[in-house]
Amino acid sequence: MHSYDILIIGAGHNGLTCAAYLLKEGYTVALLEKRPVPGGGATTEELMPQDAPGFQFNRCAIDHEFIHLGPVVKELELEKYGLEYLYCDPVVFCPHPDGKYFLARKSVEATCAEIARFSPRDAKKYAEFIDFWQRLLKGITPMFNAPPKSVIDILGNYDLSKLKDLLSVMAVPGRTLDFFRTLLSSSEDILNEYFDSEFVKAPLARLAAEMGAPPSQKNLALGAIMLGMRHDPGMARPRGGTGALTQALVNLVTSLGGKIFTDQSVEKILIDDDRAVGIRVTGGQEYRATKGIISNIDAKRVFLQLLEPSEVDDADNNLRERLDRRIVNNNETILKIDCALSEAPKFTNHEHKDEYLIGSLLIADSVKQVEIAHSDPAIGRIPDADPSIYAVVPTVRDPSMAPPGCHTLWIEFFAPYQIENRQDGLNGTGWTDTLKNQVADRVLDKLADYAPNLKQSIIARHVESPAELGDRLGSYKGNYYHIDMTLEQMIFFRPLPELANYKTPIKGLYLTGAGTHPGGSISGMPGRNCARVFLHEDRPIAQTLKDAGDSFQAAIESLFRG
Ligand SMILES: Cc1cc2nc3c(=O)[nH]c(=O)nc-3n(C[C@H](O)[C@H](O)[C@H](O)COP(=O)(O)OP(=O)(O)OC[C@H]3O[C@@H](n4cnc5c(N)ncnc54)[C@H](O)[C@@H]3O)c2cc1C
Repeated sequence: MHSYDILIIGAGHNGLTCAAYLLKEGYTVALLEKRPVPGGGATTEELMPQDAPGFQFNRCAIDHEFIHLGPVVKELELEKYGLEYLYCDPVVFCPHPDGKYFLARKSVEATCAEIARFSPRDAKKYAEFIDFWQRLLKGITPMFNAPPKSVIDILGNYDLSKLKDLLSVMAVPGRTLDFFRTLLSSSEDILNEYFDSEFVKAPLARLAAEMGAPPSQKNLALGAIMLGMRHDPGMARPRGGTGALTQALVNLVTSLGGKIFTDQSVEKILIDDDRAVGIRVTGGQEYRATKGIISNIDAKRVFLQLLEPSEVDDADNNLRERLDRRIVNNNETILKIDCALSEAPKFTNHEHKDEYLIGSLLIADSVKQVEIAHSDPAIGRIPDADPSIYAVVPTVRDPSMAPPGCHTLWIEFFAPYQIENRQDGLNGTGWTDTLKNQVADRVLDKLADYAPNLKQSIIARHVESPAELGDRLGSYKGNYYHIDMTLEQMIFFRPLPELANYKTPIKGLYLTGAGTHPGGSISGMPGRNCARVFLHEDRPIAQTLKDAGDSFQAAIESLFRG
């Protein structure tokens, strides 16, 4: 039997990040991954080798923002292991039906100049809007980069400038309550407060709704930071695709002696004397862990699928019920369309320039259309009558991902996992091959309304239904963030208050991944934070002294900078 200090269930980018930090501290680590390739939601694959050889596709994540808010790339020196980030500018292009378009460049000033061509008032308000959300973002980022209940770690991340940013939004005399009122609002409320024009409000609503909830969702105005991040620190993609981030992590992990076993689906966590001591994978192979088991998959899957009910009950007799009934997955997931193209789409009615396609391409005609895109899936309906779309033509920024002169098209279309009143199709969700292709046709028709050359340029396409995506990722209802990112499931509530610091009631069993703080997306933060918690448990004195030293050094550096 194989034995390691630490076993990690799943080799998503967070599992790999966590492994890298622990290997650097001298532990032996093995990751067990159910798919034939590591990466989870962070892979780049040649999806259609027969029909479109040489075209590389990001099967899930494409645009990276959150990872630039944390130290993972720098601390792990991922550039030495092959990672190169290509920054995008412009960052968003959204053509509007009336011929206007929203073009966000990396610079806020340049973006205001673009908006001012159609609405001088909204251009001025845009600068105010972004300034507010950026100060808030800078003020709260230190909390993302620390376990939510580790006060010393959080304080250690604050330097003077971040503290100033936080106070500048929260502690304006007489405006503190107003600040909290803003956070309790919906993104739609806030957009209406700032802007007049639909061509500005609709794409901003669409980006805010990337949190996985409609723009009208109260208490989620925070979604507005999504655009702020694209200006600073910026939006980037690894050269070669998101899989290049995974590859850099794999290179690092293996160079430190870590093992990654693919095609190893974990079916059981082995418990001995109330402690997690090993893993059994499909086929019966067992692996032993002498110090701990870390799960890159969410708590609900771990406790309801990989442990015996009695083992969970012995540790906490309420936990199974709370995971089953209290954790929320709102039924929204993604129908994914990937196309190999002979040429890039041309937005001939919107003063087309190829550079407009460098960032994300949004079809968001109105806030109402975006609302339907996110509220229909929650009740099992497919919002394809007038689709709102998030698309990217990654090859405009990175031509290495397709044969010379050709392009790829990445489309995410929000759709329900379980379709209302249907029990047929894959896993009884209602999703059949015919239906997924019908929906894809409608989505591509809508995009072709804006880019008339699109359909004739499609060499081949691959459509993955929400049910297929769910099977590939393994998450409940195909949730792309493992569990919803609404406020009641964030920070010290993620996934549940009693599990929120990466520890669990079973000794030696830890959680990381999108289902833990600070949540889904490409960030590596859950992986890094979990590694820190593990180190605090395993070597409390050494780690506390190290953290105190790091905080002291950061404070001194910030004093000299400030
Ligand atoms: C279509 C789509 C588009 C997205 N676009 C973006 C984007 O542009 N930008 C962005 O920041 N984020 C995006 N996301 C979200 C992002 O991809 C995820 O939040 C992120 O990849 C989660 O990483 P993770 O390591 O926490 O988990 P995962 O990537 O889910 O990794 C978990 C791993 O565990 C494995 N696994 C599952 N069950 C088992 C088992 N029983 N045994 C062994 N292994 C198992 C899985 O195969 C997987 O490799 C997107 C997601 C989707 C689905």
